Amino acid sequence: MSADLTIAQALRQAQQAGLDRVDAHLLLGHLLQRERSWLIAHDDALLTETQQQHWNGLVRRRLDGEPVAYLLGEREFHGLTLQVSPAVLVPRPDTEVLVDWALECLHACGAATPRVIDLGTGSGAIALALRHRWPAAELTALDASAEALAMAQANAQCLRLPVRFLLSDWWQAVDSETFDLAVSNPPYIAGDDPHLPALRHEPRQALTPEGDGLDALRTLVRDAAPHLRPGAWLLFEHGWDQAEAVRRLLTAAGFVEVQSRQDLAGLDRCTGGRWPGPAGSAQR
Ligand code: GLN
Repeated sequence: MSADLTIAQALRQAQQAGLDRVDAHLLLGHLLQRERSWLIAHDDALLTETQQQHWNGLVRRRLDGEPVAYLLGEREFHGLTLQVSPAVLVPRPDTEVLVDWALECLHACGAATPRVIDLGTGSGAIALALRHRWPAAELTALDASAEALAMAQANAQCLRLPVRFLLSDWWQAVDSETFDLAVSNPPYIAGDDPHLPALRHEPRQALTPEGDGLDALRTLVRDAAPHLRPGAWLLFEHGWDQAEAVRRLLTAAGFVEVQSRQDLAGLDRCTGGRWPGPAGSAQR
């Protein structure tokens, strides 16, 4: 028989064991299906024995490094609540910078129903945020993982946001189709990056293409041209130290207006360029 445990004691014990205070409230709120304010107002309420067991399990998993988003089964991204599982990367706040930049491109694009593609969509975060904020856009989202696509599809259904999902190794499944805007948050961490072990609960193939971390970006740039309409932007998220390399890749491939944007920490985190169209066509 486990001893009586109040909400206040459960939260205190978890923090003493090393759990972050906000995480502790989020996880216990999730377990009890209550808001944080309820936990605070009822912190002398007792947990049942089953609840205590679940709580101990959640605390243990969090202390072992499992992302809170997986334990909760969801994560906020750009104003949407997305379901997440270990089949998909947890959407990061920094990726909202890429979404905001893409929305600026859509503003400037002028097409009534712009065709937009998200390559390596994972949970669907970027594609769904864009479709949410730009309902006139026609969204296509690709991923090489069927499990990730199932998650993205479930999110689209839940949020009632129509997006076309395709199983595809980067550009492969879109053959001869062309787009007004292409965005991607590909795996970009180097295979020997010392931070990878801390991310071990997330799908490795979504984090790293192995090697120097640039292979997915190289493939995406190399095969982009036939899929981009004249004037289309190609935007990437990448590692904190990869902006110059990505700018070079885009410039060498013939992109113009190549530039980078900073993340919330002030690091160049996104880089993009504009496709001028086939050689000889008017450049803007
Ligand atoms: N930004 C993530 C991280 O460094 C990785 C995302 C990615 O590889 N696309 O944790």
